[in-house]
Amino acid sequence: MKQAIILDGQQMAQELNNQLKAKISDLKTSIMPTLATIIVGDNEASHIYVANKNKQANNVGIQTKAFYLTSDTSENELLKLITKLNQDESVHGILVQLPLPKSINEQTIIEAIDANKDVDGFHPKNLGLLMLNKPNTVACTPLACLHLIKQTNCQISGANVVIIGRSNIVGKPLAALLANLDATVTICHAKTKNLKTHTLSADILIVAIGNPRFIDESYVKERAVVIDVGINRLANKTICGDVDFAKVIDKASFLTPVPKGVGPLTIAMLLQNTWNNYTKQLKL
Ligand code: NAD
Repeated sequence: MKQAIILDGQQMAQELNNQLKAKISDLKTSIMPTLATIIVGDNEASHIYVANKNKQANNVGIQTKAFYLTSDTSENELLKLITKLNQDESVHGILVQLPLPKSINEQTIIEAIDANKDVDGFHPKNLGLLMLNKPNTVACTPLACLHLIKQTNCQISGANVVIIGRSNIVGKPLAALLANLDATVTICHAKTKNLKTHTLSADILIVAIGNPRFIDESYVKERAVVIDVGINRLANKTICGDVDFAKVIDKASFLTPVPKGVGPLTIAMLLQNTWNNYTKQLKL
């Protein structure tokens, strides 16, 4: 039986980062692309994620300004910092790591960031522009999924795409992105009846539910492209996806691993979004 080709997100991310690094080192201006990152509180995972984002940004030549705020920071204090960063011409991207403490309204914070400095693509204006097929900044994980799909050379136009998961950060923007490319998109979620009847028609199946190895080969159409967005931390401290990799590899045509699939490319897309905001702001 022919096994799926494994899509190496880590290597693709490295290629994108190398290209970006070359562009940044060729800049003829002393104003360097700069990303402000903000963490509120001491969520361990958030600190690991943001440290990684800052490190990778610095590796390609993007400067970072990291703000570590204590968990008792008020919504007003955070809003004041965002206003300051919105006005600061030396800052081209602002990232507020989610989740925020319960005392702070996440949507209020997302909406306070200047849409042109939004690097996550979560601002309602950017989500709206994506719906209108006039994208400005698009969310990083959907961009990562699209990049992976494009590497397979499969035809997106007219393809049956099934996305499992309808979050604002993955499923919904990804559905818009692929519909804009003329795919026939179905969004499934926890209330979907007879999930398999949908997934078995998918030429491209994208899984973003947060349930370890939930999707086995019985959900997958023969030779489908399967993109696994899930990141699940197991009791033994290892990480696995939402797709049962060992079972699906004999049925899919292309498959992403976890780790080293969508994850590293998501960070690469954050760097691309920062670069794009920078070039637009400097009119380069
Ligand atoms: P979420 O928790 O906001 O939403 C999960 C979605 O899955 C919901 O729409 C829910 O209805 C659906 N769902 C849950 N159980 C289901 C089931 N049994 N059948 C069908 N649908 C079901 O999720 P999210 O924030 O989009 O994250 C999803 C997963 O992707 C998580 O594992 C998360 O860690 C991971 N993630 C990875 C990246 C990355 O960079 N690789 C980025 C974001 C999220």
